[in-house]
Amino acid sequence: MVRLDIDCTSAVLVINGCLTVHNYGSLFSLVARTLALVEGLRVVIDVRDAMHIESTAVDMLIELVADFPAAAAHEPILILTPDEMPTCPSLAALEGLPPLVAS
Ligand SMILES: [Zn+2]
Repeated sequence: MVRLDIDCTSAVLVINGCLTVHNYGSLFSLVARTLALVEGLRVVIDVRDAMHIESTAVDMLIELVADFPAAAAHEPILILTPDEMPTCPSLAALEGLPPLVAS
């Protein structure tokens, strides 16, 4: 779900699964560990490759990283989002199925 790319100026956490209000919180410890690991580098959270993004989760993630205790010592954490938030492929697959009918 998450890949870490490190170059000389930043550490990029690439999210490619589902980003929802139910799981965005799991990024907190990941960001904490990344900040500790890449002392002094900018941390970027890139959700542009995520399969599914809830815009509410992005808003909550922005608030989460703004409150980040270590953020003051670093450059602000940058969050990259796509222009359009993709809906869940597994939900889309369910919507394509015929309704369940009791017989
Ligand atoms: Zn999903």
